[in-house]
Amino acid sequence: MSMVDIPADLETVLKDAHLPALMTALVHMTGDPQWLREAWKPTYNPAMRTDTGIPAETQAEIRRQAALVIRAHLEGKPLALPNPDTELLRRQMNFVAGAEIPETYVDFLLDELALAGKSSKDPQFEQPKLQAAARKLKVLVIGAGMSGLLTGIRLTQAGVPFEIVEKNADVGGTWFENTYPGCRVDNSNHMYSYSFEPNHAWPQHFSPQPELLKYFRGIAEKYDLRKAIRFGTRVDTLAWDEARAVWRAVLTTSTGATEVIEANVVVTAVGQLNRPRFPDIEGFGDFAGPAFHSAEWRHDVDLKGKRVAVIGTGASAYQFVPEIAPDVAKLTVFQRTPPWGMPVPHYHDDVPDGMKWALEHVPFFDKWYRFWLFWMTTEGMLPMVKSDPAWNGSPDAVSAANAMMREMATASLMAQVTDRPDLAAKVIPRYPIGGKRSVLDNGVWLAALKRDNVDLVTDKVVRITPKGVVTADGVEHEVDVLIYGTGFQASNFLSFLKIKGRNGRDLHETWGGDARAYLGMTNPGFPNLFTIYGPNTNIVVNGSIIFFSECAVRYIVGALKLLADTGARAMEPKQGVFDKFNKDVDEANAGWAWGSPNVSSWYKNEFGRVSQNWPYGLIDYWRATLAPKPDDFVLEKASEPVA
Ligand code: NAP
Repeated sequence: MSMVDIPADLETVLKDAHLPALMTALVHMTGDPQWLREAWKPTYNPAMRTDTGIPAETQAEIRRQAALVIRAHLEGKPLALPNPDTELLRRQMNFVAGAEIPETYVDFLLDELALAGKSSKDPQFEQPKLQAAARKLKVLVIGAGMSGLLTGIRLTQAGVPFEIVEKNADVGGTWFENTYPGCRVDNSNHMYSYSFEPNHAWPQHFSPQPELLKYFRGIAEKYDLRKAIRFGTRVDTLAWDEARAVWRAVLTTSTGATEVIEANVVVTAVGQLNRPRFPDIEGFGDFAGPAFHSAEWRHDVDLKGKRVAVIGTGASAYQFVPEIAPDVAKLTVFQRTPPWGMPVPHYHDDVPDGMKWALEHVPFFDKWYRFWLFWMTTEGMLPMVKSDPAWNGSPDAVSAANAMMREMATASLMAQVTDRPDLAAKVIPRYPIGGKRSVLDNGVWLAALKRDNVDLVTDKVVRITPKGVVTADGVEHEVDVLIYGTGFQASNFLSFLKIKGRNGRDLHETWGGDARAYLGMTNPGFPNLFTIYGPNTNIVVNGSIIFFSECAVRYIVGALKLLADTGARAMEPKQGVFDKFNKDVDEANAGWAWGSPNVSSWYKNEFGRVSQNWPYGLIDYWRATLAPKPDDFVLEKASEPVA
């Protein structure tokens, strides 16, 4: 007898399920590769990501057969093929992706799929010797957001004692801090979740912020992490104690008291986007009414019936402007550069009940759906934003593929403003797609800008006055409330933290404002200090940052294993390894749309260097972070301190 309530109208329920992922999952249930026949192979429109290209009557037939198989399985028929051989798995991958997956991706994607529930990201500390050494370590983790919680989970699994210090009153990081109206994840939720903690109940494909916060709070509970977290506590300084090979951390606790703690290893998990950036504008601070940043939303300020100014049209403003526009008396949006909106019609849609049912009950369906998202929205996108050195077309594109994408996105934007030529002239970006992060367009942004009570101003903001905002044309735009959607001090990595490494060397002085790290994580002269989501680990088009954090944490846990294994007490990257890595990264970044000289964005620091982005595929970060290579590091044995 089945434990699952099988819907009587299963065929209808399956209408909501992603069909190619369902067919791929059916191979496991039936053992029959005929589910992957050529005639049923999906084709996708890369922009819409939805069209399976399978005729409606064929889809109905597939669902009819699928319902029989799923019902039989849920009534007790065992899986015919839980572990297909590599050749069949490859066929499954090619089928669901609707594309030939290159051979080099196979081991990587198999690891992502984790069909047998095992992944290279699971800590491997089975040997008693390692376990004993692990227990003697102490790790300080700074931050209890997505990356910090993940670190806590993995350290628990590895048996390494740790403590997490969090400045906020709760877990969740960016999902705790950003509460502006309309805040939601702009990466598909079924991928924007830990690979080992799928959530089959995401209410939307791109769920609102409270759902993300709920997910991370749930993770903290499930893995019992709260007991290891000190909330309301800041780490102010870190200093390496050469003689004892420990970091001394000075904290300001929730009561305002100063406290010193020590750890062998420090992991910073503080994100890149949590120090608000206010524009350097004359008169900043002079505004007489309420003025606030999107990440510090003033819920006590009622916008109803008010005249409101918004400066900035990046990812945050793009989400909150459509939400507040209907409520305010007048909204003036100051745009310096328009964002590229990519058509995603289901951006605000609920996940249909049938899809949720299939994710929960059809074995392997969730895995293949995640895999499909992974391919469609990550690696599969990269060729569109790669610069072609031979490209001699318009400078607003970097290759023929990029120009094609521009045409498609332009057509989609223009179609929304045919009745407003004044807006059409303002909302089509002149920089290449992929130069900055694109936003997801389901029509609400331009609909908001078209409202009678909304003005899009593209004249340069030159001054803030007590009454409002003055633009270069001399107009003073009088408002009651001023909202900054002006982003974050992303390039100022770890700016809140004073860090003294070997011989008292200061990390920020060493960087001189141009932060770098080997694989985004380590610096010579700063032993046993690891940064998650550090320099050059951000992505523009390809995927979820959770993926990067999972790779980084695997590497850091691997570093702890290396210490345990070798008996070394400290490790730091060799200068030559660090230098070569950074040279390669800089050269490679120049080959992408975001490295293009006619793009300015928060991905570049004050020196014009792309300090944020990873210039390769996800597969390359996955490979580079499988485990630390001992040869890349100077390992310090207890008896021989490094000079
Ligand atoms: P942002 O993308 O850096 O956008 C800042 C905006 O302010 C830009 O339009 C910028 O114009 C404008 N600006 C800055 N200084 C200005 C000035 N002096 N005068 C006029 N305009 C000015 O910041 P954000 O929107 O907060 O997003 C930051 C990042 O956070 C995103 O790229 C994304 O990675 C992440 N994010 C994600 C989500 C999500 O997942 N849902 C949501 C929000 C944010 P320019 O373009 O000309 O510089």
